Amino acid sequence: MPNAPLIQDGQRPDADFIARLSPAVSAAMPLAARIFDEFRKVSADGCGVTRQAFGAGEQAAMDVIGAEAAELGLEIAHDAAGNLYVTLPGPDRSRPAVLMGSHLDSVPVGGNYDGAAGVVAGVAVLAALRSLDIVPAQDIRVMGIRGEESVWFGTAYLGSGLALGLLPVERLDDLTRTDTGKTLAQHIDALGYDSGKLRADPPHLSSRNVAAYYELHIEQGPLLQERDLPVAVATVVRGNARYPFAHCEGTNAHSAAVPRAFRRDAVLATADLVMRLEEFWREIEAAGSVDSVLTVGEFYTDPEAHGMTTVPGRVTFTLNFGTTIASDIEEFHRRVAHYARDIEAQRDVKFELGPATGTPPRPLDTEIRAGLGEACRALGHEPFELATAGHDAAMFAKAGIPSGMVLVRNANGSHNPDEAMDMEDFEEGCRVLATALAVRGHL
Ligand SMILES: [Zn+2]
Repeated sequence: MPNAPLIQDGQRPDADFIARLSPAVSAAMPLAARIFDEFRKVSADGCGVTRQAFGAGEQAAMDVIGAEAAELGLEIAHDAAGNLYVTLPGPDRSRPAVLMGSHLDSVPVGGNYDGAAGVVAGVAVLAALRSLDIVPAQDIRVMGIRGEESVWFGTAYLGSGLALGLLPVERLDDLTRTDTGKTLAQHIDALGYDSGKLRADPPHLSSRNVAAYYELHIEQGPLLQERDLPVAVATVVRGNARYPFAHCEGTNAHSAAVPRAFRRDAVLATADLVMRLEEFWREIEAAGSVDSVLTVGEFYTDPEAHGMTTVPGRVTFTLNFGTTIASDIEEFHRRVAHYARDIEAQRDVKFELGPATGTPPRPLDTEIRAGLGEACRALGHEPFELATAGHDAAMFAKAGIPSGMVLVRNANGSHNPDEAMDMEDFEEGCRVLATALAVRGHL
């Protein structure tokens, strides 16, 4: 006979409850390990794993989760975009659900844990709750999200964006997958889901039917390793300002024959811009913007014209600035424009910066952060907080749904086959997640 909710709304979990929850989470780890193994098997590409967004690898991972959830006796459903939902029902199905989730696609030749860890963690927590015969206070649902990685369609957060109604439906026809050339709508329909329904119906998820969103994700930086900590609580999803299609135009000229005053050197001009922007980065860091990042990911001369003895007449480059402070973004755009004008005047070149894109920083919900922090303390360690890169949680926060994130230590960065997450760290992340559900009165 299932229990009534163990913890009433507003009550704190007692030590006895935590003491029961912890071994149940541990007991779910063989299941988690098996799912990770199956994921690797169904999406191996010879070097790492490849889970194409709205395609084969992602679908194979969805099928693995669906089969394991059926074994556990959990409810399984999909939305019209093909996102997967696995539910442990509460007594009153009309109450907004609590979601735990992450994405099931990967970059090409990626690692087994980026995204997948958050879905497996959700399933492990549900398995633990099921093993204790807990009937949660409201539906607790794991969401396997499609299409988070921007590499496939040139835009990130497609699955969560479609579920939350944050991706304009016209994009179903103008986004094409880089490897197939087919549109997002064609991919959705080919998988047996319904792009027509996405155009006609209101969003599947909103703050009316989702009470909170929790995402566990591997940390993509080195901080937890450096500090020797298994998990962290995220404070904010960094915003960014990007120039994906920038050029500098000068004039190709003979390297030995043309004196400095007559040169229009695109490399020196673009290098000048980049170094000034690094100086801007130092300046805002010194002023307290400690979580800002600047990357010039592409910087190349024209291969048709370049050569050791040619003054370069054209540079193609990208600018990618990230920050947790909204005003930094405006200042970055202002500086880029100002420096470009100044360098144009000094070096007789022309910058064509192209369209700028970006998203504002998304602070995560303070009460969920506090709940995750309290869960860490209940488990015997002080919470460590840090800012994080872009994740689906940013979309839920944008939709006005209280959202929080648990980051798990991971060696060798992410988006590569060498991602290395220790299952003991993962287990602690799952424990924090499960305990936080109790702390926040969801169990
Ligand atoms: Zn990810």
